[in-house]
Amino acid sequence: MSDLRLGDIIDDFCVKCKRLTNHAIVSIVDEQAAKVRCRTCYHDHDYRHEQPPPSKKDLKKHELFAQVLAGVAPVSTAAEEPADKKKTRARKAAR
Ligand SMILES: [Zn+2]
Repeated sequence: MSDLRLGDIIDDFCVKCKRLTNHAIVSIVDEQAAKVRCRTCYHDHDYRHEQPPPSKKDLKKHELFAQVLAGVAPVSTAAEEPADKKKTRARKAAR
Protein backbone atom coordinates (compact mmCIF):
# COMPACT_ATOMS: atom_id res chain seq x y z
CA MET A 1 0.00 0.00 0.00
CA SER A 2 2.81 2.40 -0.81
CA ASP A 3 1.13 3.87 -3.88
CA LEU A 4 -1.53 5.88 -2.03
CA ARG A 5 -1.87 9.48 -3.14
CA LEU A 6 -3.84 12.42 -1.81
CA GLY A 7 -7.28 12.47 -3.33
CA ASP A 8 -7.35 8.72 -3.97
CA ILE A 9 -10.72 7.13 -3.32
CA ILE A 10 -10.70 4.32 -0.78
CA ASP A 11 -13.37 2.51 1.22
CA ASP A 12 -13.81 3.40 4.87
CA PHE A 13 -16.50 3.39 7.52
CA CYS A 14 -18.24 6.75 7.88
CA VAL A 15 -19.76 7.39 11.32
CA LYS A 16 -22.20 9.92 9.86
CA CYS A 17 -23.43 7.62 7.08
CA LYS A 18 -23.05 4.60 9.43
CA ARG A 19 -21.76 2.45 6.62
CA LEU A 20 -18.81 1.84 4.34
CA THR A 21 -18.60 4.63 1.78
CA ASN A 22 -16.08 6.00 -0.68
CA HIS A 23 -13.58 8.30 0.98
CA ALA A 24 -11.01 10.64 -0.52
CA ILE A 25 -7.61 10.61 1.19
CA VAL A 26 -6.87 14.04 2.65
CA SER A 27 -3.67 13.20 4.51
CA ILE A 28 -1.07 10.45 4.39
CA VAL A 29 1.33 9.45 7.18
CA ASP A 30 4.00 6.80 6.65
CA GLU A 31 2.49 5.92 3.27
CA GLN A 32 -0.80 5.07 5.00
CA ALA A 33 -4.03 7.01 4.77
CA ALA A 34 -4.27 9.07 7.96
CA LYS A 35 -7.31 11.25 7.30
CA VAL A 36 -10.08 10.69 4.85
CA ARG A 37 -13.18 12.58 3.73
CA CYS A 38 -16.45 10.82 3.10
CA ARG A 39 -17.53 11.30 -0.52
CA THR A 40 -21.18 11.07 0.53
CA CYS A 41 -21.43 13.59 3.40
CA TYR A 42 -17.98 15.25 3.17
CA HIS A 43 -17.22 14.46 6.81
CA ASP A 44 -13.47 14.40 7.58
CA HIS A 45 -12.16 11.84 10.03
CA ASP A 46 -9.18 9.62 10.79
CA TYR A 47 -8.89 6.62 8.53
CA ARG A 48 -10.50 3.70 10.38
CA HIS A 49 -9.20 0.87 8.24
CA GLU A 50 -12.81 0.14 7.29
CA GLN A 51 -13.66 -0.77 10.90
CA PRO A 52 -16.89 0.56 12.42
CA PRO A 53 -16.34 2.25 15.80
CA PRO A 54 -17.10 0.03 18.80
CA SER A 55 -20.72 0.20 19.94
CA LYS A 56 -21.63 1.33 23.46
CA LYS A 57 -22.25 -2.32 24.32
CA ASP A 58 -18.74 -3.23 23.23
CA LEU A 59 -17.28 -0.36 25.25
CA LYS A 60 -19.11 -1.63 28.34
CA LYS A 61 -17.74 -5.11 27.70
CA HIS A 62 -14.22 -3.72 27.39
CA GLU A 63 -14.74 -1.83 30.64
CA LEU A 64 -15.79 -4.98 32.49
CA PHE A 65 -12.92 -6.90 30.94
CA ALA A 66 -10.48 -4.22 32.10
CA GLN A 67 -11.91 -4.45 35.61
CA VAL A 68 -11.42 -8.21 35.62
CA LEU A 69 -7.85 -7.75 34.44
CA ALA A 70 -7.31 -5.17 37.17
CA GLY A 71 -8.11 -7.82 39.77
CA VAL A 72 -11.64 -6.80 40.72
CA ALA A 73 -12.36 -10.22 39.26
CA PRO A 74 -14.62 -12.47 41.39
CA VAL A 75 -17.50 -10.01 41.03
CA SER A 76 -19.79 -12.46 39.26
CA THR A 77 -19.80 -15.20 41.94
CA ALA A 78 -19.88 -12.70 44.82
CA ALA A 79 -22.75 -10.78 43.26
CA GLU A 80 -24.84 -13.86 42.48
CA GLU A 81 -25.01 -15.25 46.00
CA PRO A 82 -26.63 -12.33 47.86
CA ALA A 83 -29.07 -11.97 44.97
CA ASP A 84 -30.26 -15.56 45.56
CA LYS A 85 -30.68 -14.96 49.27
CA LYS A 86 -32.71 -11.85 48.57
CA LYS A 87 -34.98 -13.82 46.25
CA THR A 88 -35.55 -16.49 48.91
CA ARG A 89 -36.34 -13.88 51.52
CA ALA A 90 -38.75 -12.13 49.20
CA ARG A 91 -40.57 -15.40 48.53
CA LYS A 92 -40.93 -16.11 52.26
CA ALA A 93 -42.28 -12.61 52.88
CA ALA A 94 -44.90 -13.06 50.17
CA ARG A 95 -46.38 -16.17 51.80
ZN1 LIG B 1 -20.42 10.03 5.28
